[in-house]
Amino acid sequence: MTYKLACKDMGVMCPFVAEGETMDEMMEIAVKHAKEEHGYTDEQLNDPETQKAIKAAIRKE
Ligand SMILES: [Zn+2]
Repeated sequence: MTYKLACKDMGVMCPFVAEGETMDEMMEIAVKHAKEEHGYTDEQLNDPETQKAIKAAIRKE
């Protein structure tokens, strides 16, 4: 199983897709990318609405 989270599924114009064998591994990559490339803060990423959007955008393959 591979967990995937694509920036474009979060409404961001960016071709990046975070992938990981586990949810934790994938989220670590996604969070690092969101902070470094899109300037997100921990506060923004921990916002309940953002968390809901992230969970809805995660795909399992
Ligand atoms: Zn991105």
